[in-house]
Amino acid sequence: MTGAYIPLALRARVIKRAASRCEYCQSPARYSPEVFEIEHILPLATGGKTMLDNLALACPACNRYKGSRQSATDPQTGNEFSIFNPRVQRWSDHFLWSDDLCEIIGATPIGRATIDALRMNRPAVKNFRAALKALGIHPALVG
Ligand SMILES: [Zn+2]
Repeated sequence: MTGAYIPLALRARVIKRAASRCEYCQSPARYSPEVFEIEHILPLATGGKTMLDNLALACPACNRYKGSRQSATDPQTGNEFSIFNPRVQRWSDHFLWSDDLCEIIGATPIGRATIDALRMNRPAVKNFRAALKALGIHPALVG
């Protein structure tokens, strides 16, 4: 969620920590026409604070689809799981790239639920990945 003032120095730390990538769909801010946002992982409305440990860099689409959600349904099991938290979980533990590198595959229920909720394989972002791949700049290595 957006809405809180985030000091410039704090913004810069969030962006640097994320290596200027959306911490959900991994889109690189540098090549995106969209202005990326600093997202509150635990929303302000539910007590989240504007502090480094509760902030993530997100592309506008991931941020909008996430909204104030804390959990989502795993489409494989129908069970509810928490949405991936880039502060306490590692991206590569929950997500994989497809063979053509254009789609993110959920490796865990959390991964699948997050992909579904944030629409991390929306057509435009898949096209974006294909274009970046053709330029040799996708995917970047993520931890
Ligand atoms: Zn994203």
